[in-house]
Amino acid sequence: MTELSLRQQLLETSRKLVELGLNRGTAGNASVRYGEGLLITPSALPVSEMNTSSLVHLDLSGNVLSGGKPSSEWRFHCDILKARPEINAVIHTHSVNATTIACLRKDVPPVHYMIALAGGDSIRCTPYTVFGEQALSDNALEALHDRKACLLGNHGMIALGADLYDALAVTEEVEFVCEIYWRMLQAGEPKILTAQQMHEVQAKFVEYKKRS
Ligand code: 13P
Ligand code: ZN
Repeated sequence: MTELSLRQQLLETSRKLVELGLNRGTAGNASVRYGEGLLITPSALPVSEMNTSSLVHLDLSGNVLSGGKPSSEWRFHCDILKARPEINAVIHTHSVNATTIACLRKDVPPVHYMIALAGGDSIRCTPYTVFGEQALSDNALEALHDRKACLLGNHGMIALGADLYDALAVTEEVEFVCEIYWRMLQAGEPKILTAQQMHEVQAKFVEYKKRS
């Protein structure tokens, strides 16, 4: 893909996150792998004011190759893309339901089978660390082991994908599962799927994803 089409996709994805109510104002950020580095949203700029040239080109160590000030969370975007070659897009949101569970500092158990889209039978939550710091990135990387999503304690979520469309789909499903979990916590004792039931779902998803 050309640099311009990746920039357009990253801008579209950032706009979609706001349209879907998953981010607002300057909350959250996103990135996509480009060549040896990545394109990332700028820091502290509302999506409504972004254009393709506001996006910043970094190398995987976080050095700016072109553009202005990158997202304050450039550390985890770079560290994830460095550590996970199968991942090409990273989305971070402060969406209400995921953030609610993150503020409860709870891991999400398999309350609904769609949790499988996040890569396993749980979504882990990290301890709290201040935004933009290396410690937040280190905690996130650990919580993302074998997963495509995690919650950041008292902060929000991170979702990963093979491309931006995939990362957006994971973001939406994590938000859905967190909403269900939050509702279950209000209503009574959640019924959790067993490891065997989740194993069955993982196997079924392999078939489900084949289009013919
Ligand atoms: P940026 O505007 O620097 O991307 O920060 C937003 C955010 O969500 C920090 O965690
Ligand atoms: Zn944030």
